[in-house]
Amino acid sequence: MKILVPVKRVVDYNVKVRVKADGSGVDIANVKMSMNPFDEIGVEEAVRLKEAGVATEVVAVSCGLAASQETLRAAMAMGADRGILVETDAELQPLAVAKLLKAVCDKEQPQLVICGKQAIDDDANQTGQMLAALAGWPQATFASKVSIADGKASVMREIDGGVETLSVTLPAVVTTDLRLNEPRYATLPNIMKAKKKPLETVKPADLGVDVAPRLATLKVSEPAQRKAGEMVADVAQLVDKLKNVAKVI
Ligand code: AMP
Repeated sequence: MKILVPVKRVVDYNVKVRVKADGSGVDIANVKMSMNPFDEIGVEEAVRLKEAGVATEVVAVSCGLAASQETLRAAMAMGADRGILVETDAELQPLAVAKLLKAVCDKEQPQLVICGKQAIDDDANQTGQMLAALAGWPQATFASKVSIADGKASVMREIDGGVETLSVTLPAVVTTDLRLNEPRYATLPNIMKAKKKPLETVKPADLGVDVAPRLATLKVSEPAQRKAGEMVADVAQLVDKLKNVAKVI
């Protein structure tokens, strides 16, 4: 069974991004970029399935700038067998990525695609769902446990007030939630080995996909500053403030 794992290059989760002065977006010049954390979980899950003898090959795919090669190498250092870069300088929105991934799936014929549940830069939470729709495949989103048997994936997902278990027939799209696993750190020997693994580069036009944006961002602004807290002397003063100042009781 072949598993395809889409991995996105995003601003590192430790970076505090700044909004550009003209409000057109956030400034990502000279900031640290890393693999989207939910995609690390996806790579880890796919590699574990390979180690368990369930999968035979793990292919990482990234769409975006040439620098996304680093993200693919990071996936290969964690254990992915090879990488595919769909290289473009264009701004990619989730629908465009889903179309590109669909074209890659047509070529690669994976039985399972493990996407992250969301990219921490756009927080869209759309790509996996759109890919499933375009491919006509079942989807199981926000997975916290995945097991594969008899051509089906059994996926546990956390929902409000409990856990739901879905059974989906392969090929299918699964998206990862935080509790699915704890991704490994790549060891130095594996980072070195990853440099020699195959990395194929294609362009959106080679896949016959039009990636032109369908949505326009009107404005990006900083969240409102939080006001400082206030210490109160006793419960009576707290109740008085809640009643007469905040007017919430
Ligand atoms: P999003 O819908 O943008 O929140 O992204 C959800 C998931 O889709 C990510 O966690 C990735 O697995 C995948 N994805 C989104 N954009 C890309 C991209 N440019 N390249 C590869 N995978 C992507």
